[in-house]
Amino acid sequence: MTTKGPSRKQVIIPMVKDNIDKFMKNSSIHVTNLNRNLRNAMSEVLVDFICSDPLGITVVTNKVLLNSNLLIIEKYVKNLENIDSTQVKSPQLLQSKSYLKIIGIPYYPHGSCNSQERLSSNDIEAIIKKNQIFDNITLASKPRVIKVSPKSDMVIVWINIWDVQSGAKAKGLINRCFNVGRFIATVRMANANPGIPQCKNCWKWGHSIFSCRIQGSKCIKCNEPHKSENHCEFGWCCKANNKINPPRLETKKGEPCPHTFKCTNCRGKHQADSITCPFWKNCFNREWHQKKYSEICENRAKSIHLAGNENTKQ
Ligand SMILES: [Zn+2]
Ligand SMILES: [Zn+2]
Ligand SMILES: [Zn+2]
Ligand SMILES: [Zn+2]
Repeated sequence: MTTKGPSRKQVIIPMVKDNIDKFMKNSSIHVTNLNRNLRNAMSEVLVDFICSDPLGITVVTNKVLLNSNLLIIEKYVKNLENIDSTQVKSPQLLQSKSYLKIIGIPYYPHGSCNSQERLSSNDIEAIIKKNQIFDNITLASKPRVIKVSPKSDMVIVWINIWDVQSGAKAKGLINRCFNVGRFIATVRMANANPGIPQCKNCWKWGHSIFSCRIQGSKCIKCNEPHKSENHCEFGWCCKANNKINPPRLETKKGEPCPHTFKCTNCRGKHQADSITCPFWKNCFNREWHQKKYSEICENRAKSIHLAGNENTKQ
């Protein structure tokens, strides 16, 4: 399925993670510089903000982008000193998304079931990058690898790609085959986006970052109110504490947090977007998600009620 084109007021610039990290560190400076360049070129289109996802950065503008604006943005990004311009693709207007699935891929692509190497979405990205049938195709989100059924040893891979409104890119892919090791995978059309979105601001499921209603951000690692990239600075787990036994040392600047994470959704010990999270595993199962959230609401109501009772006893 191909969605109708949205506003065209966004452009995605696909690039590698290292570039994304470096670019996003100075995103507000980049907004100012880009707007200076656009104004100098007499453009009425200006940049409102820039956000990132695992595949690239998205520049969101006040008006529909023209090709001349795209050139200015591309030139600016590729000429940045700390950005590896060979790892930056050309900007793509966010037009339509097409939903596809890939079938015929085993859960353990390396053969033996004993091997721990299950197929991951990174594997799929690498396969897609190498394969010529995916030339000029840009993924709109990370591929999702889901077992055909709980007991099956085969998977379905769901991919979303950026497309033109006619869905021409998807049509060019449907029914094409390619190798995954010794297996032959086939691209098929998917009827709709069966996946539930996960907000990249508060990490809850069911809405996107554009309709997130919380003030501020939640951390993907510890669920506290700070941005994930500032976890080591703001997260309590990375602060020194002499009062506990053994005392905890402060996490050194620039080093990753070595502590246990806490998932905002299931309270498990993993990042909120971990593929081991039951919410992720059920990301195509709306019923499961609804049931789970209503359970959580009920439990919360119960514990508030209990706390209330405790207070009246005193
Ligand atoms: Zn949110
Ligand atoms: Zn944190
Ligand atoms: Zn920590
Ligand atoms: Zn979880």
